[in-house]
Amino acid sequence: MLETVDFYREILDNLYDGIFFVDKEGCITYWNNGATSLTGYNSAEVQGRNYCDIIHPLDKQGNQLCESNNFQIRRAFDIETMTEIEAYISHKEGHLLPISIRIAPVREVDQQYVVAIEIHSGNSPRYAMRQRLEELQEQAMHDQLTGIANRRFVEISLAARLDELKRYGFGFSVLFIDVDHFKQINDTHGHNIGDRILKMVGTTLANSLRSFDIIGRWGGEEFVVLLINTKTEDLFMLTERLRRLVENSVLTLDNTETLKVTVSIGVTEAQKGDTVESIIDRADKLMFESKRRGRNQVSV
Ligand code: GH3
Ligand code: MG
Ligand code: MG
Repeated sequence: MLETVDFYREILDNLYDGIFFVDKEGCITYWNNGATSLTGYNSAEVQGRNYCDIIHPLDKQGNQLCESNNFQIRRAFDIETMTEIEAYISHKEGHLLPISIRIAPVREVDQQYVVAIEIHSGNSPRYAMRQRLEELQEQAMHDQLTGIANRRFVEISLAARLDELKRYGFGFSVLFIDVDHFKQINDTHGHNIGDRILKMVGTTLANSLRSFDIIGRWGGEEFVVLLINTKTEDLFMLTERLRRLVENSVLTLDNTETLKVTVSIGVTEAQKGDTVESIIDRADKLMFESKRRGRNQVSV
């Protein structure tokens, strides 16, 4: 029996939804991990305390639900089916969370009456809106085609890194990467294959960087990489490695034909007096130097 209880407890503990039980007096007898991550309160902090004093449920108009005689948790002794309400509860950090509360009718467990209450934020329309905002924010920083960051994200990161360099002296380098003869790929194989090549190049580059480096698509067939905290003497070697990895990436077409591209790279270290424009401009000029020297090159 005890094993069965442990088994169910483990399941409950691993749900994303918050679930807690209260007794007749409203004192909390069980509080799962989901309730902890939703509210910020852990099980030890709430055990035996009245849920009204912890989550302070409010209705949509901001009225204290615990003060209302009609509040469904109180009426759980009369109800026979699950009821669901939209409400706000207080997070430990003080902010209000829009959630749905599902209240199960009273059950007798070990000669005690318990009410099971499920709180979840996923279905709440307000929560959905917040999630949508986060999605939009993410989209605003993402390049749809390649799945890596977009130019705006790179510009924002670059500005932040420059501030950091000026304030703390943390160095970084900027790589400007342009695909060689890319127009020819589009002209010969069509725009769709061109897109697949861009995805391949972006993914190879992204997969070859350290987690704290930054890569984004700057425009058309151009990528910008920020290498964080690299030594001057390693810069050429690190950039060469990226050039070579792209050179060795192969796209196999449906007709088993294989396609490869090369990139020309300009790389420069950030200076304290740099702006976003000045450093990109310098890296871009060095990239052109690589083009001039015959493409598939790195210029430092
Ligand atoms: P170079 O070696 O001098 O860089 O030659 P290039 O052909 O790569 O240079 P150019 O700038 O003339 O060509 C870039 C081409 O990239 C032109 C444009 O049609 C193509 N392009 C820009 N954005 C996209 C895209 O999102 N998808 C595809 N398929 N092509 C794109
Ligand atoms: Mg270009
Ligand atoms: Mg090009």
